[in-house]
Amino acid sequence: MLHKLLTSAMPLVPRFIMRRLANKYIAGESLDEALAELRRQAAAGHPGIFDILGEGCDSESHARAAAKAYCEGASAIAAAGLDTYISIKPTHMGLDSDEGLALELYSKVAKHCAELGLFMRVEMEDHPTTDATLRIFEELRKSFERIGIVLQSRLFRTPEDIAKLAPGPLDVRLVKGIYLEPASIAHTEYEEIRNAYLAMTRQLMERGNVKLRFATHDSGMGRDLASLVAVHSVPKDMYEFQVLLGVQEPLWKEWQEEGHTVRVYVPFGPEWREYSQRRLSRNPELLKAVMRDMLPI
Ligand SMILES: Cc1cc2nc3c(=O)[nH]c(=O)nc-3n(C[C@H](O)[C@H](O)[C@H](O)COP(=O)(O)OP(=O)(O)OC[C@H]3O[C@@H](n4cnc5c(N)ncnc54)[C@H](O)[C@@H]3O)c2cc1C
Repeated sequence: MLHKLLTSAMPLVPRFIMRRLANKYIAGESLDEALAELRRQAAAGHPGIFDILGEGCDSESHARAAAKAYCEGASAIAAAGLDTYISIKPTHMGLDSDEGLALELYSKVAKHCAELGLFMRVEMEDHPTTDATLRIFEELRKSFERIGIVLQSRLFRTPEDIAKLAPGPLDVRLVKGIYLEPASIAHTEYEEIRNAYLAMTRQLMERGNVKLRFATHDSGMGRDLASLVAVHSVPKDMYEFQVLLGVQEPLWKEWQEEGHTVRVYVPFGPEWREYSQRRLSRNPELLKAVMRDMLPI
């Protein structure tokens, strides 16, 4: 009820107030602002992830413009010498309407990144896009080395998806999954999602030749993950923690002091307002987390 009320009121909040609220989580609207934030993070010892906010492109020209913006961003990151990689949502490349277009645009950005020596990750969105996203990832892997994927522990299907991935090196960002999925295909309880995350980590470790990227702000799970990497003697260059800009910063410091790499996801772009509103309205847990974060307690 409160969630509905808050999300329906969001479009009425003046832009400058929304901007101030979003400031902590979003680097700004322009490429220069994103680069400045990435430099700030680098100075604090955090490598970065470059993300242009946007999803569900409604036209081919919109998706092509997004791919072009990613290529420009990649060039700027390489020129600045930042340890930052590119991360892209499939529907931002037009997957919603045309899988062929999404593959073409991902390939274009991947080729540009490869020429610059940069890594590119294919992100994961909600379940209707999972099959096509994995197909695109497997296709890209045939031509490019520095490519990664995201896998969601919330989904029942993920262990099977891992088993089906073609042999060879992998770079996987493990997440719980931000999209609330139906109970018929996904875990819905906190503890189940967490247990599935840890099981998925073990499965990937057993598979071998996998770079593990733990994208989470769950401190308890972080402890379990740190124990797992220690017990399995996972080398430092084969795992890292990844966090979202502005979220649970004391935890980053803790992990960093324990000797783990903590990479920061830096989202930005002119579509920040529409994107944030959509995400907050579709996931009450996210809105709760942001509200909790804003309270001075
Ligand atoms: C670098 C990175 C990349 C991601 N990429 C994807 C992706 O491609 N696809 C996908 O489905 N999901 C992605 N996610 C989101 C992920 O799936 C989870 O929804 C999100 O991280 C919350 O789960 P958690 O493990 O952090 O634990 P939780 O238990 O949900 O959160 C732990 C703590 O962090 C706080 N918190 C968590 N998220 C936020 C937030 N956004 N704002 C404020 N406080 C917060 C919570 O209040 C809680 O106190 C990504 C997350 C990160 C960190």
